[in-house]
Amino acid sequence: MGRGAIFLDRDGTVSKEVGYVNHVSRCRLLPQAAEAIRLINESDFLAVLVTNQAGVARGYFKESLVLEVHARLEALLAEQGARLDGIYYCPHHPTSGSPPYRQECHCRKPRPGMVEAAQKELGIDLSQSYMVGDKHSDILFAHSVGMKGVLVKTGYGLGEIEQWSAEWTEDPDWIADDLLDAVKWILSRNDE
Ligand SMILES: [Mg+2]
Repeated sequence: MGRGAIFLDRDGTVSKEVGYVNHVSRCRLLPQAAEAIRLINESDFLAVLVTNQAGVARGYFKESLVLEVHARLEALLAEQGARLDGIYYCPHHPTSGSPPYRQECHCRKPRPGMVEAAQKELGIDLSQSYMVGDKHSDILFAHSVGMKGVLVKTGYGLGEIEQWSAEWTEDPDWIADDLLDAVKWILSRNDE
């Protein structure tokens, strides 16, 4: 069986959406993101980051920078008593750059590779798990592996809702103001 996890998109959900994060100084937490992750840490859920970083394939920054940014993100969270149980990223793109980063990989969201890796390594029960993200593709990603999907209005979220929701083929299970609102909704559903 295993534990439930709350999978978190990075840019626009945990950290500010600023376009490509090509320097560690561009990585800033969204307000209340640390508080939200601390609540996950205090619950039975695991907190797992899953992020597409195609800027590597596109040649905007090196893969080593992704690791530096994640170290900074973890440090910023730690300052506020929050921690991630796992971090997974996809550096690929199907058509940009050159191999090995240019490839039809299995890990670029909404494909399931990152969640499958986390499931194996951390012992996660996907039927008890959630994905929180600021793009509708995060919701499709969630549903494709049997998770619930929560859309946040931060980052690209509000624009996704206002411009595209009429065309959505699958609705989010919940639309939240931000990550803290999303986590509170998830925990309240599991609070019996
Ligand atoms: Mg995002």
